[in-house]
Amino acid sequence: MVNIKFDNTYSKLSNQFYEEIKPQPVKKPKLIKLNKKLSEYLDLDDNFLKSKDGLLALAGNKVLRGSKPIALAYAGHQFGNFVPQLGDGRAVLLGEIIAIDGKRYDIQLKGSGKTSFSRQGDGRAPLGPVIREYIVSEAMYHLGIPTTRSLAIVSSGENVERESFLPGGILTRIASSHIRIGTFEYFFAKNDITSLKNLADYAIKRHYPDSFNNDENIYKSILAKTIKSQASLVASWMSVGFIHGVMNTDNTAISGETIDYGPCAFMDHFHPQKVFSYIDTRGRYSYSNQGQIMLWNLSIFAQCLSPLISNNEKKSQTIIIDSLNLFAEFFEEYWMSNFRMKLGMKKSFPEDKKLIQSFLEILLKQNIDFTSAFRNLSNTKDSFKEGDYIISLSKNKTSIVNWLGAWKKRISKEIRSIENIKKDMKKVNPVYVPRNHILEKIIKEAVENEKFSLMNDLLDIIKNPFIEKKNKKYFSLPPSSNEIVRNTFCGT
Ligand code: AMP
Ligand code: MG
Repeated sequence: MVNIKFDNTYSKLSNQFYEEIKPQPVKKPKLIKLNKKLSEYLDLDDNFLKSKDGLLALAGNKVLRGSKPIALAYAGHQFGNFVPQLGDGRAVLLGEIIAIDGKRYDIQLKGSGKTSFSRQGDGRAPLGPVIREYIVSEAMYHLGIPTTRSLAIVSSGENVERESFLPGGILTRIASSHIRIGTFEYFFAKNDITSLKNLADYAIKRHYPDSFNNDENIYKSILAKTIKSQASLVASWMSVGFIHGVMNTDNTAISGETIDYGPCAFMDHFHPQKVFSYIDTRGRYSYSNQGQIMLWNLSIFAQCLSPLISNNEKKSQTIIIDSLNLFAEFFEEYWMSNFRMKLGMKKSFPEDKKLIQSFLEILLKQNIDFTSAFRNLSNTKDSFKEGDYIISLSKNKTSIVNWLGAWKKRISKEIRSIENIKKDMKKVNPVYVPRNHILEKIIKEAVENEKFSLMNDLLDIIKNPFIEKKNKKYFSLPPSSNEIVRNTFCGT
């Protein structure tokens, strides 16, 4: 019987692209979470996944018919330093499946044991970071941000050794593909131009099957598309206060999806230099550096494509520079459009940027929570000037009252009813994001007491992040002073 209909294509590429390797079985697998809605979308049999055989498949203890498990080869720049061989050191791609809308997805197990890419690592993942990735990726999806998704969490019944012994877990990750900038770097560094070309052709066929016509330079086009999609992605992260935390080139997907939720976090009070990751000591991947870093990553991608773009190096470099020069423009456009929408502005006027920036400045100076500040702006009373939440939070009332005055003036140029404006604002300013202190609490409950009720509550809430729910205020509030979490860890 075929339980999952695999339709593999990546494993048909030559064997330089991967290592054929089975996931390593775990001692006592237990299903912690299954994403029913996602399994329906992927045309998977929910009942099978919940069955004993389904669990064995999600744990990596059993390889299903049609699956051809492989660990993908890739390289990457980690914190700016090139590592010629990284690869799936703790993950295997089980294969590809086709969703009900015809889209193709990778189904991958993460935390599934050693591969030839494991280097010093144990090939495993602690359950805590698996839970974090599941929740945050699903939250991103429901916020409308391109992302890999999470189908299941299995606990392994085994401990993994980090600073202490921690229960292990396996995540089933779904992605449009697992091709990274680092995959291109892998072949570029080896000067294997044939494989580089095969990879680029594969990526184009997979992600842009109908976008390019035959006579254009398709390698220039995939560069242009990636520059645009990544500019859009990072601008959307910033609009919800998201900090990826480890934007190495191996964690930048060509699909334009957010990938690899390690030490990521949503910030509470606004600070442009905010960093959570324990290892990011110099703030390379801070909140407001993300645009610049993405451009840096894209310049590496462009360099890898250069032999394909043209045989003439000079010509290739000119095309690359012209393409990369567009990033800043795209980024600014997406950023402005996102933040305009957050302030209820559909039209565009020259004073808008200043208005957005001065709001952010007030949040910064007065240590105000990013998510609730924007959400509560859309809750201001009809006149926009009555004693609202922002004013009540702020220490310097004059600056916010002045700002509200300027905003009100600007909003009046929209020539739409205030009800209408507020309704639109509520569609882009979430009530709920998975806040760090709550994630930590969830992980603690899960890991120490095998309790998952808080996790399930949050997962339920983030399905509709823009709709306020009764009796769920706790999930919308910033941490109290004793709940603040300052650092995140990636659990590698
Ligand atoms: P990440 O920080 O998760 O993006 O991982 C960077 C690289 O380290 C990738 O090649 C991973 O496969 C590898 N890696 C991370 N954690 C482990 C582990 N526990 N065992 C083996 N390889 C790992
Ligand atoms: Mg990674």
